[in-house]
Amino acid sequence: MGTSATRDTAENRRRTNGAPDVDAVVVGAGFAGLYMLHRLRGMGLSVQVFERGSGVGGTWYWNRYPGARCDSDSVEYSYQFSDELQQEWRWTERYPGQPEILRYLEHVADRFDLRRDIHFETTVAEAVFDEAAGCWRIATEDGANLSATYCIMATGCLSAVNRPAFDGLDRFEGAWYHTGAWPHETVSFAGQRVGVVGTGSSAIQSIPLIAAEAQHLTVFQRQPNYTIPARNGPLDEAEYAAVRANYGELRRRAKRTATGSWWHPNPTAAAEMSAEEREGEMEARWQRGGLSFYGVFDDLLANGEANGIATEFIRGKIRTQVRDPEVADLLSPHSYMGCKRICLDTDYYETFNRPNVSLVDISDAPIEEITRTGLRAGGKEYELDTIVFAIGFDAMTGPLLRVDIRGAGGRSLREKWADGPRTYLGVAIEGFPNLFTVTGPTSPSVLTSMVPTIEQHVEWISDCIAHARACDRPRIEATRAAEDAWMEHHEEVAAETLFPSCNSWYVGANVPGKPRTVTPYTGGFATYIEKCDAVVANGYEGFSLTTG
Ligand code: NAP
Repeated sequence: MGTSATRDTAENRRRTNGAPDVDAVVVGAGFAGLYMLHRLRGMGLSVQVFERGSGVGGTWYWNRYPGARCDSDSVEYSYQFSDELQQEWRWTERYPGQPEILRYLEHVADRFDLRRDIHFETTVAEAVFDEAAGCWRIATEDGANLSATYCIMATGCLSAVNRPAFDGLDRFEGAWYHTGAWPHETVSFAGQRVGVVGTGSSAIQSIPLIAAEAQHLTVFQRQPNYTIPARNGPLDEAEYAAVRANYGELRRRAKRTATGSWWHPNPTAAAEMSAEEREGEMEARWQRGGLSFYGVFDDLLANGEANGIATEFIRGKIRTQVRDPEVADLLSPHSYMGCKRICLDTDYYETFNRPNVSLVDISDAPIEEITRTGLRAGGKEYELDTIVFAIGFDAMTGPLLRVDIRGAGGRSLREKWADGPRTYLGVAIEGFPNLFTVTGPTSPSVLTSMVPTIEQHVEWISDCIAHARACDRPRIEATRAAEDAWMEHHEEVAAETLFPSCNSWYVGANVPGKPRTVTPYTGGFATYIEKCDAVVANGYEGFSLTTG
């Protein structure tokens, strides 16, 4: 690790004075970490970033699987903190592909000269609060140490992969990959018998491309998902120019919505519409493509009947696209729609009409083991040359808990969260002073458009740090009462939704043994922003600020 680079003369001086090495350590160099570094540096703080990958990008550095693409429109899925940046960058397609987003983030890193403070290929193993010195001591896997007044976890929501824990994987003689840790080299499937395990977003994006190349593709499905046509294509120049001329207003408007997105939610409940109106609304959103299907009825995520109308519509669409009725049936979900993340696809259902693709239902016949030459599920052997595990992530808490974080009095975050995460606003944790989480558990994060939600957090956290420094009380900590009140509100609003009823990663159901709790805040982005702003207006209500 290049820590020598961090220990310039000024820092050495601080060390001999007993002061921490730097003002802030940021963990992660994706969308969140890059902006956090830029922002704190702009406030005059010394900052060092630790990043596991060999380059910037976070999610978009790791997820290089075939077809990896963002489900948000490119014009939305970008920073707004710099108008020059949003004016000079040119997206090419409606939804940006992984290589294009990675190029964008590399451009951002260069444009704002960020790389000089980032330590790549450096995994943080431990962050321990040193009560006497009032600082965080950060230790990396390769044995380096750094102390900082503030520690900001910009580790992302979906960065800890759900590792395949199947018996026999080490004996498999073919190649295997996880979509969330894809190699940098091109992977060829030509002439191969390929198995894809999983049918979430990553699988739904990669399956059509793998099928087009492989000799045969077998998809192993535990639960089907709802997917809407993406309808990707090149950006229309005139429309794009209009967006660029109006970015400010479009961004402001998005912040007043529940999801932070630009699409218009239908403000009417399903029961208040006629059958024709409902059909028209669903068809229009299906034809337009994209995640705006979430906004089809005002009560889609709160009312089982409204939800049932939408799901019957989707099942009808599946039946018209998939020729074999048995396969169509297997691909048709019967759970509520939206309490698992809705997927977007290009030619997903049509792929199952190909003669070289088969679908295997493993809902009642799980994968028993990986064999030397394939896998066995439901007592049947499947011969495979390559297995692609598209089995998702230990979402939201995983990226934080894989670091051994210990707060005041040596208290471990793993212990504190043994029954599920508890935070204040998803940014701070009682007992862990001067530790902040960008889009942490119980923040709206994954239920909103990720980049605006990240920017809101980065700005809120950096303003909070600026406040603590300005009033000369640099130790800031969420109080127990504030955390309890936030968690009560979080649980109350979640209980009014359909989210608790689905076995999704939103509730941790995809990771065996994980406590079941609705992890993201379901109250909506606009409400969340209001709450964060009120905390500031009331003098950082719910935080104790001390000299430390
Ligand atoms: P995911 O949605 O969690 O899907 C994982 C899939 O693997 C599910 O079908 C799951 O089945 C299956 N699975 C997990 N463990 C299994 C096991 N032991 N045996 C058999 N099947 C197993 O993961 P993902 O597709 O990587 O997506 C995760 C999230 O990342 C998305 O929801 C989305 O938020 C984000 N993402 C976004 C994009 C985009 O913007 N375009 C693309 C990819 C991912 P069950 O459903 O039965 O659990």
